[in-house]
Amino acid sequence: MTAASTSASAVRDLGELDWDNRFTRDLPADPIDALDAPILPRQVEGAAFTRTRPTSVAEPALLLASDAVAADLGLDPSALADEPALSALAGNRVADGMDPFAMNYGGHQFGNWAGQLGDGRAIALGEVVDTSGHHQTLQLKGAGPTPYSRRADGRAVLRSSIREFLCSEAMHHLGVPTTRALSLVTTGDAVVRDMFYDGNAAPEPGAIVCRVAPSFVRLGTFELPTSRGDIDLLGSLVATTIRHSYPDLVGPDGTVGPSQIAAFVQTVVDRTARLMADWMRVGFVHGVMNTDNLSVLGVTIDYGPYGFLDDVDLDWTPNTTDFGQRRYRYGNQPRVAGWNLARFASALVPLMDGVEPLQEALDSYFSTYSSSWLSAMGAKLGVSVDAVTVPDDAEPTTSGNSPGTLTAEDPLFADLWTLLPRVETDFTRTFRALGHADLTPADGVDRLWAELETTVFYRPDTLTDELVGDWRNWLERFAARVVADARDPAERAAAADAVNPIYLLRNWLSQEAIDAATRGDEEPLRTLFDVVRDPFVERDGLEHYAGLRPDWARDAPGCSTLSCSS
Ligand code: AMP
Ligand code: MG
Repeated sequence: MTAASTSASAVRDLGELDWDNRFTRDLPADPIDALDAPILPRQVEGAAFTRTRPTSVAEPALLLASDAVAADLGLDPSALADEPALSALAGNRVADGMDPFAMNYGGHQFGNWAGQLGDGRAIALGEVVDTSGHHQTLQLKGAGPTPYSRRADGRAVLRSSIREFLCSEAMHHLGVPTTRALSLVTTGDAVVRDMFYDGNAAPEPGAIVCRVAPSFVRLGTFELPTSRGDIDLLGSLVATTIRHSYPDLVGPDGTVGPSQIAAFVQTVVDRTARLMADWMRVGFVHGVMNTDNLSVLGVTIDYGPYGFLDDVDLDWTPNTTDFGQRRYRYGNQPRVAGWNLARFASALVPLMDGVEPLQEALDSYFSTYSSSWLSAMGAKLGVSVDAVTVPDDAEPTTSGNSPGTLTAEDPLFADLWTLLPRVETDFTRTFRALGHADLTPADGVDRLWAELETTVFYRPDTLTDELVGDWRNWLERFAARVVADARDPAERAAAADAVNPIYLLRNWLSQEAIDAATRGDEEPLRTLFDVVRDPFVERDGLEHYAGLRPDWARDAPGCSTLSCSS
């Protein structure tokens, strides 16, 4: 577990942090601010953001906080539950040094251009220089309406705030780049939601998560000005993003021209490709990979109807809104990110002399993804990678294929991926077992199969003789690779256990914690938060968190299916 080391100089109020609001200082502001005027939804042209204020809530209380995030910011974690910190985290008080604003951006939603979206329920408080000297934006999600709220209320419900808080921290501890979560505050106000979109709207408890990231700029941030022909704003956004987030890419004498922009796009492409391999290696399905929900830093952002795979199913998506097309299904994520990056690069064309450097950057995406995926799979299985190039005319990832088959593949891995979905096979438990199995003794394969047979299949009665034969053949080939690698078995097992989680934020575990918290029992939530912060080391008494999805959760709302209503 990350030990939060609080330095002696840690402060108790957000107002005492080292605020340095670069975004609002360096980019054009909406001339109509929303500080005193009534907040009406509108189109905001020629501006990167609108100054605004959180709307106060009735009765804030701290439910969860990440001590490590607090300590990194220079905040004393023990101070967050009380005044003066609590009122700032609830949006009831704007502390000294803050300059709250809502960001303006657009995006492609489910493949279609959606125009202006913007921070409809997120309000950035400003930027803090953290204890390592890096800028971190603090942002309250669910803090009330902004000019970008369209017809919605700017609020968030407790269940979705718990999911966002837990997953941000869980992903960080799985080694997946992500926005972080400092705090989760309940508001004491009710928020009305129609959870199943069936006409039964009901009040639910409201909550606010304070998210933390070096930047909340999205791919869609650049698409909006280009769609409006506002090349001045586009140029400012690109130059400022490069200066703030990618200072190493700035040219001599501070220039940002076509070659710096090409390097910027290349970096975003590389980071996004690696992020996709990270998502795929932990079985994460984002659920709403619209261009406004992909970060320009290549970190996971905007946790909504996401989920982790229980059984391996390349077609699975938790998002009920996407059940028709399944555009954002697990197996399609790498391709969708490539599509999103193409929208991003296209938005930058007006700043370039020609499209070739952008095309080159985009062309590298699939091979960067494939090599990241292959090394992740090698690490998970604890074997060397024996890659072959996938022919150009091969069908890229579709259902039933390995998520790796984009430009390169290892036949051993690809064949495992054709076995896994044949009957319901648990993703996390299977890789944990394969990665640390000792396959050097003569009976290694027999023992491993005996373990798999009883621990990873949801319905052992569906195992046919043919499938068992195919599994055993594959295990023999796997064992041959392990033996050829000639690594020390204990070292191999330890290395594989360090990348194959035993505990995962499975949807049904979140749902259990949410149900208990809604009844007023916060203990399961705190335990789950502890569990997901240390996902790789097996601990006594935590069997519940390492188990197969129970039957009650198979089709339960919040477990296998989630709506966007949050
Ligand atoms: P999403 O795809 O869920 O990240 O959200 C798409 C857009 O809808 C973003 O501009 C959000 O800010 C906005 N939005 C989502 N929920 C709300 C809400 N409750 N109030 C205002 N805006 C919202
Ligand atoms: Mg979003």
